[in-house]
Amino acid sequence: MPSKLTEEQLAIQDTIRQFVANEVIPKSREWDEEEKVPLDALKMISELGLMGMVIDPKYEGSGLDFFTAALVTEELAKGDGSLPLTIAAHNLCCGQIANFGSEEQKQKYLADLATGQKIGGWALTEPGAGSDAGALKTRAVKEGGDWLINGQKMFISNATVGETFVILASTDSEKKQKGITAFILEKGDPGLQSGKKLEKMGMRSSDTSEL
Ligand SMILES: Cc1cc2nc3c(=O)[nH]c(=O)nc-3n(C[C@H](O)[C@H](O)[C@H](O)COP(=O)(O)OP(=O)(O)OC[C@H]3O[C@@H](n4cnc5c(N)ncnc54)[C@H](O)[C@@H]3O)c2cc1C
Repeated sequence: MPSKLTEEQLAIQDTIRQFVANEVIPKSREWDEEEKVPLDALKMISELGLMGMVIDPKYEGSGLDFFTAALVTEELAKGDGSLPLTIAAHNLCCGQIANFGSEEQKQKYLADLATGQKIGGWALTEPGAGSDAGALKTRAVKEGGDWLINGQKMFISNATVGETFVILASTDSEKKQKGITAFILEKGDPGLQSGKKLEKMGMRSSDTSEL
């Protein structure tokens, strides 16, 4: 049956397949046993342009469409489930900034994320708010010219290795999920701490922690 993929998609698929065969499959077991994010592999993935797959080239991304990004994710996942989880969580951070950030925020954060110089994370889940996002208890209040955010996030991918985070907090609790605002925070911002890396039963070389 002839492939319905374009020549470009087939070429990308082939490149990732070779990368996975040479650089992922031989090391995946070791990464899993060590429960460590394979930063060397992520560096190579960055060089392949996969940390900013769907980000506009204007911000150093690869500008792929979502279908092609799904093909890449599928190929990576054939070798190791943790890698695409790490990249997907990173993409949630990139995607939220790319889709809803101001031009100033895009200029400030996207290039470092899309080139993999910084790993991103996206934090919605809390100990009492998973599927029911409207139940989140993290609150953001304006104090003078600053926002003061208080809360605890749970099961956050890339929480210990990440440097840029989109964090969801309530700015109007009466409006429940309609009163949630996304904030961009960076490692080193006062009070932002990741917790102990959580032990998992699978995808153990992805980083999951409290934030
Ligand atoms: C490996 C891993 C990585 C993660 N990374 C991130 C991350 O980067 N950022 C982030 O914000 N979160 C992350 N999460 C959290 C994830 O998004 C939540 O686990 C998910 O939203 C479910 O929430 P919960 O675990 O509290 O389960 P619950 O919401 O308590 O759900 C438990 C079960 O009840 C079912 N259920 C819930 N509500 C209903 C309902 N109304 N009707 C019927 N059934 C229902 C669910 O389908 C599920 O089977 C991660 C989780 C894991 C395991």
